[in-house]
Amino acid sequence: MTTIYPVARSHQPSSHLYDVPSLENGGANFQTWKYRFLMILEMRELMGYVDGTAVAPRPSLPLQQSKYLQNDKEARAQITLTLKDEPLNGVLHTKTAKEAWDKLNTRYKVSLYDAHIQNGHVSYEYIKKALDSDHKYLGLQTDPSKMDEPLCEACAKGKISCTPIRKEHISNRAVNFGDILHMDLWGPSPVRAPGGFQYTFTILNEATGWLHEPKMRTKDEAFG
Ligand SMILES: [Zn+2]
Repeated sequence: MTTIYPVARSHQPSSHLYDVPSLENGGANFQTWKYRFLMILEMRELMGYVDGTAVAPRPSLPLQQSKYLQNDKEARAQITLTLKDEPLNGVLHTKTAKEAWDKLNTRYKVSLYDAHIQNGHVSYEYIKKALDSDHKYLGLQTDPSKMDEPLCEACAKGKISCTPIRKEHISNRAVNFGDILHMDLWGPSPVRAPGGFQYTFTILNEATGWLHEPKMRTKDEAFG
């Protein structure tokens, strides 16, 4: 008989250095690099070392202090080992992970418009609020000279809606049969009806409500 013991789960964060695509010279892939980097830090429980929430213990606590320094070194290694030469040069003289992180974010500041695009088209207002608040909006830094708010074409298209149709009739209703006809020609239908009919022509007489809906094989029959 075999006894199966549960595997003890370790609560220690992983110490493995993750391999992510490097931050390119010029920083063109800064946003994607940052996204991956933050994910790794979160998994490794090292986020506090870049957002400033991990506080160095007092020197009277040597054990905690050495753990703190070790974690900071790991966070810094995760940053520096994934930089190409140009961004690396910019952080060579930093001493902590947070310093290196802040330097990079300052170096690759974006315009408000870019921040809008890179953050899933979140509103300008939301980004500005996040930048002003104490909430963590990790690493997002905008260039103060690029805070204009151009119309985003994608957002404008996404928000287009029809003019609402009023429930009540506001213009005067036609009095005589034939004064006003409402017509719509619909088709071609994806499925042909028996007899080859593909179009429906709807004619509604406003005064009396008379409705006529002939089915047609071709569009030009509407004139027949
Ligand atoms: Zn947009």
